[in-house]
Amino acid sequence: MYTYSDLEKDILSLKKTEREIIGASTLDKNIYALHKGEGKSRVLIHGAIHAREFLTAKLLIELLKDYDGSLPLTVIPMVNPDGVDLCNLGLDSIYDKSRRDYLYSVNGKSSDFTLWKANANAVDLNVNFDAGFGKGKLNLTYPAPENYIGEKPFSERESIALKSITEKNRYSLTVSYHSRGEVLYYGYENIVRYKEQVNKIADKLGYQPLLSKGSHGGYKDWYTLNFSGLGITVETGLDNASYPLSDKVFEKMLKDNKDILAFYAETASEIGKI
Ligand SMILES: [Zn+2]
Repeated sequence: MYTYSDLEKDILSLKKTEREIIGASTLDKNIYALHKGEGKSRVLIHGAIHAREFLTAKLLIELLKDYDGSLPLTVIPMVNPDGVDLCNLGLDSIYDKSRRDYLYSVNGKSSDFTLWKANANAVDLNVNFDAGFGKGKLNLTYPAPENYIGEKPFSERESIALKSITEKNRYSLTVSYHSRGEVLYYGYENIVRYKEQVNKIADKLGYQPLLSKGSHGGYKDWYTLNFSGLGITVETGLDNASYPLSDKVFEKMLKDNKDILAFYAETASEIGKI
């Protein structure tokens, strides 16, 4: 388990870390960006945009605790706090009865939200970005536990928050943490950049680099389409693990990602200003 309140507690214990609130979720929880190092950050790393992948938030916090480099970096550990709490705590995490009823019905009249990926509007945030919106093979046009694109690109507060911080700071490298598969996705449609850096990061993680195919509406897709830096998606965690992911899976994630933040910060400074 890893909830929004676990995250808030952990954030308070972080040393030499600047905390910024970059927006609010559908149910008014804070979306935090954490800054470490000196100077202008060229790398943005985010996790838990998909509810059931909440261990990526815990992972990023643990990695931040260990990071003592001087190169600046920015981490948004939990893009989708409402979804994370729904997944961890079920409908008890929702105060408003009409919303509770709505989510229960979207979830096929089940109280088990273990596999939920969306936010509290039942929109899958990682298909809500403006890059081939609605063209993904698995995309749905109605509220669902996963794959619902929303009414329009950036219909959701959480995707807007991620868009705004990205546009404001023009990062050279963006890394989206998902689980699972132990692979790294890069590129969007025909756009492929910084293949050498992709390979180095994949090597360091011990994950296979894969050219992204048929993916639309994701953050990495949107970033790759609109900026000239490198956007990657890291799928961490054993491919055959089932949800909720076990402590053993988490231990492996930690091991795979050891010192990776420093590597991202170096890669971003290598790419330079975009
Ligand atoms: Zn995901």
